[in-house]
Amino acid sequence: MSEAKKTVFIKTYGCQMNVYDSTRMADVLARENYRPVGSPETADLVVLNTCHIREKAAEKVYSEVGRLKPLKERARQAGRTMQIAVAGCVAQAEGEEIVARAPIVDAVIGPQSYHRLPAVLARAAQGGPAIETDFPDEDKFDHLPRIGGAAIAPAGAGGPVSAFLTVQEGCDKFCSFCVVPYTRGAEASRPVAQIVSEAERHVARGAREIMLLGQNVNAYHGAGPDGEDWSLARLLARLSEISGLERLRYTTSHPLDMSGELIAAHRDLGKLMPYLHLPAQSGSDRILAAMKRRHSADDYRRLVEKLRKARPDLALSGDFIVGFPGESDSDFEETMRLVADVGYAQAYSFKYSPRPGTPAADAADQVAGPVKAARLHELQALLHSQQTAFNAAMQGRTVDVLVEKPGRKPGQLVGRSPWLQAVQLDAPADIVGTIQPVRIEAIGANSLFGSLARPAAAGRAPARRPDSIGAIA
Ligand code: SF4
Repeated sequence: MSEAKKTVFIKTYGCQMNVYDSTRMADVLARENYRPVGSPETADLVVLNTCHIREKAAEKVYSEVGRLKPLKERARQAGRTMQIAVAGCVAQAEGEEIVARAPIVDAVIGPQSYHRLPAVLARAAQGGPAIETDFPDEDKFDHLPRIGGAAIAPAGAGGPVSAFLTVQEGCDKFCSFCVVPYTRGAEASRPVAQIVSEAERHVARGAREIMLLGQNVNAYHGAGPDGEDWSLARLLARLSEISGLERLRYTTSHPLDMSGELIAAHRDLGKLMPYLHLPAQSGSDRILAAMKRRHSADDYRRLVEKLRKARPDLALSGDFIVGFPGESDSDFEETMRLVADVGYAQAYSFKYSPRPGTPAADAADQVAGPVKAARLHELQALLHSQQTAFNAAMQGRTVDVLVEKPGRKPGQLVGRSPWLQAVQLDAPADIVGTIQPVRIEAIGANSLFGSLARPAAAGRAPARRPDSIGAIA
C-alpha cells in the first residue's frame, strides 16, 4: 500500500523568482509524497517563501507566523503535526533570529538550499529547529528534481502556458540600497544545457512562453556546450530554436549589462517579445552615483535610443526609487524629466526605505516621509498617464495574444499581448495555449478587452523574423 500523502501549503511573497522557487520546492516535496493544498488550515507543512525587498519585510513575516500559531496548536490538539518553514530572502537575512523570536518555526532555509528541504524538515522533526542558511558547496540545480513533480500552476498539458525559468541568481553590483547581493549571494549562472533541457520540458508540458529570470539576468554568463561562457543573447538565440516555444522574455536587467549583442537580439529574434523591464531608479546623476548604479541618466537615454532603433515597437518598463538619501527637489525633477523623455508602458515606483545592512541605510541625509510621499504621488501620476496612453493606443488594433487560461467569468479567457498587457476575450476554451489575433475593443484599468479577429486557428504561430543575431555597438 502506498504511503498516505502529506499536504503542503506554500505562501509566496515578492518577485517572480520566488514564484519559480516555490514551484521548485513543491517539486522537491512531491518526491517526498507531499501534495500542495490551497490553505494552511489542515496542512502538514506550511512554507512561507519570503521577500526582503519591501519595507519591514521581517516584521511582516513574524506577524504571518503569529497567525499560524493557533493552527499549529489546533493540529497538535487533533494529534497531528504541523511544521512551519520560513524560506526565501528573509530566512537568509535573519537566520537564527527567526527561531529566537518565533519558536514555533521548525525550519529556516535560504534560497540556495531548497534541494535540502526534506533533510532540513527531517532534522527539525527530530527535535528542531533546523537552520540552513549557509551557501552550500553543491549547486542546488543539480539536485532539484526535473520540472513537473508538482502541478501548482494552471495547466496547458500539465504545466503553465507561460513558465518561469531561473537562469541566473545573485548579484555582484552592490547598489547601495539593495539587499540582494547579501541575501542571494554572488552572481551565478546556470549552464546552458541545463536551461535548454528545462525549457524543453516546460514546452513538452504545454508552455508556449518562457520568462527567463535572474536578479541581474542580463549579466548571465553560463557555461555553454562548447566550453565557452555564453551570454544571455546567445542563450536566447539557442532557446529560440526550440520547436513549440513561441515567446521569450527576460527580467530583471541592469542597464550596464545591456550589451550590443543583446540589443541586436531584440532586433533579430522573432520570439523575443518587444517588452523590456529596465530599471533606471533615478534620473539624477548625483543620486545615481550615490546609489552606485555606475551609469548616468544620459547613458540610460542613449541605451533606450539604441534599443528603440533596434526594435521600434519596444515597450519599456522601469523601477524608480524616490526620496533616496540626499535627494533634493532638483534631483527629483531630473527623475521626472527622464520619465517624460523615455515614456514607459508600465513602471514600479517606491519611496526609499532603508534596508538594514545596506550602505544607504546609514546615510545621515534621509529624506522626510511627507516629502517622499509627495514626490511618489507626482511621479506615479506621470507614470500612470503614460501607461494609460500606451494602453489606449491599442484601441481598434489587432494584436497577437497568447491565450493562457480561463478567466473568472464563464466563457472568458485571458492572455497576454506581446507587450505583456493582460487581454480578456470571450472565446472557446480549446484555444488556451495558442496565439490568436485579437481585435482590441475596450481598454480597462488593468486589462484590454477584445474578441477573436477571425475564427480561432489552433496553434497559430506569429510571423517570424530572422533568428540569427548580429551586434549593435
Ligand atoms: S543590480 Fe539589482 S539586484 Fe543587483 S544590487 Fe543593484 S538593485 Fe540589487
